[in-house]
Amino acid sequence: MELPVYLDNAATTRISPSVLRAMMPYLTEYYGNASALYRTGAASRRALDAARRSAAELIGASASEIFFTSGGTESDNWALEAVFEAMSSKGTHIITTGIEHHAVLKTCDYLKFRGAEISYIRPGSDGIIDPDDIRNAIRKDTILISVMTANNETGVLQPIAEIGKIARERDILFHTDAVQAFGHRKISVADSCIDLLSASAHKLNGPKGAGLLYVRNGLRIPPLIYGGSQERSKRAGTENVAAIAGFGEAVRIASKTMAGRDTYVRNLRDYALARIENEISGAELIGHRTERLSNNMNICFHGTDHETLLIALDLRGVCASAGAACSAGAVMPSHVLLQMGLSREEAESCIRFSLSHENTKEEIDYAVDAVKEAVEQIRESNG
Ligand code: PLP
Repeated sequence: MELPVYLDNAATTRISPSVLRAMMPYLTEYYGNASALYRTGAASRRALDAARRSAAELIGASASEIFFTSGGTESDNWALEAVFEAMSSKGTHIITTGIEHHAVLKTCDYLKFRGAEISYIRPGSDGIIDPDDIRNAIRKDTILISVMTANNETGVLQPIAEIGKIARERDILFHTDAVQAFGHRKISVADSCIDLLSASAHKLNGPKGAGLLYVRNGLRIPPLIYGGSQERSKRAGTENVAAIAGFGEAVRIASKTMAGRDTYVRNLRDYALARIENEISGAELIGHRTERLSNNMNICFHGTDHETLLIALDLRGVCASAGAACSAGAVMPSHVLLQMGLSREEAESCIRFSLSHENTKEEIDYAVDAVKEAVEQIRESNG
């Protein structure tokens, strides 16, 4: 077994070998601009088209509804800003949740500055948003509901099909940040009445710097970035062909292997969780036990603090994470956990482990032993 044991796949994943192979030709041989008429350019264009078809297929969309971006952050910014701009004659009210990624929350802050009114729905203590709370927050001037598919810190899945239906019934646009779920869970944009969806390649063994925004056919939104006519004039800038080709391959692998990977990772995660709960006192799973991504377990180790615990785990060769790193590198208490009703002290005792299909039982046993040792040591030194 090689160290480190990497259990931070919600942060980012390793590029898979076939993804790298799919990217290489576009960094070497076929470097032509995808807009060009000569053959190396046409090869780039074909790679973009193939990736677009694969991504569309994964969520039951058509290729014309997929716009490639630089990643989840750009897609979230674009979705919210574009709807605000396009719909401002109808209203300025947006409903979202207090547990969204900062890519959504900070965009909301910016839109507030531009005159938007935002309602932030709080989840229950299990991390789930109640669709009735969304329904009750709707006003005459509500133009957008934005609720993530799965939370990045707890892995908790949101009832997006119910929320999407509520939005459609009331003629309100529905955006979901599916960055954590895309390629890991089955998503149907039609079944969940999704108008806009954000995804990112590096969460499913694709490269960093590629993402997409799904925009339902018939919905016309302005660009976020102005310039050339790439992405049907909606997202200007010479395409990152290699990254998008890699994204396409990551999507193809994900769609072929999703069910098998999901079962494997869930069994491994449940094994790790059972060991932790049986062998470490004062260890509490945060968020709903079953309505969650199969790879995530966010655990509160009462009587410890996450920063010391993460450093102790790093020294033992285990990569995990907690909350969001602030600019000084320190870990801030998670806004998600605080929204779920945890005290600051509890939120500062939580660690997120996010597994992948590449993890082995041997690695998990090593990591659980390391956690046990580190937690005991920290509690002893805290007296
Ligand atoms: N949304 C969620 C839920 C995420 O987990 C992330 C990344 O961690 C993002 C958005 C941002 O995606 P990207 O890193 O591709 O910009």
